[in-house]
Amino acid sequence: MEEGKGLMPLEEYAAKRRFQNTPEPPPGKETSKPGANYFCVQRHDATRLHYDFRLEIDGVLKSWAVPKGPTLDPGLKHFAAHVEDHPLEYGGFEGNIPAGNYGAGSVMLWDRGTFDLLGDASGEEQMARGDLKFRLHGEKLNGDFALVHMKVRGKGNEWLIIKKRDEFAAPGWDVEGHAYSVLSGRTQEEIARNLPVRKTKRKTAGAADRVWASSRPAKTKRAAKAPDAVEAVEAGPAKKKRKSTSGA
Ligand code: MN
Repeated sequence: MEEGKGLMPLEEYAAKRRFQNTPEPPPGKETSKPGANYFCVQRHDATRLHYDFRLEIDGVLKSWAVPKGPTLDPGLKHFAAHVEDHPLEYGGFEGNIPAGNYGAGSVMLWDRGTFDLLGDASGEEQMARGDLKFRLHGEKLNGDFALVHMKVRGKGNEWLIIKKRDEFAAPGWDVEGHAYSVLSGRTQEEIARNLPVRKTKRKTAGAADRVWASSRPAKTKRAAKAPDAVEAVEAGPAKKKRKSTSGA
């Protein structure tokens, strides 16, 4: 990536946040290393639970908010709202955005790794034409995906994220069956309560685990119920968050 590029797009990110009030990183000095191609997904329990899907392109994290989360099921096309670019520093972020701030709620680093662009066009070119193809090398997500800009009358930010058919495709795969942090091993509830990092990932089942962990085959409807389950868990001993600000 050329030096200096990628700073301007972060103005929207900075304008939405007051960095004295949120642990989220301000746009910093971190710049892309050649061939870095980092990707991450954050599970964000904001006004509505969603997943933030981010790809390192042009020195920033290009970002989409995915209400149903990414999936390995090639039969599903999940809506992905294109949102403002995030700084590279955001790629390691996990924590709690306090009430009253933009996106208030807990943020889990749900997956991370690298990606390869597919085809000859640059990431910027693929973004511009609204058809981005890439191969993920994550801890949970692997294989070929596409992000496709929907040509519909709307806000213009409507995309779909689609798993291609390959050896990593998994029909019936349930994103909520993998609701733990790749950074700390914690569940969303454990992050919300600022509980310590798990030394052994997934050793004991927390409350949130019991909601999701199941030996039954995944059903697609279960994902839709998970946000309510999280709300119910969090409404218990933890102080109820005031989530007045919108989600992305
Ligand atoms: Mn978000």
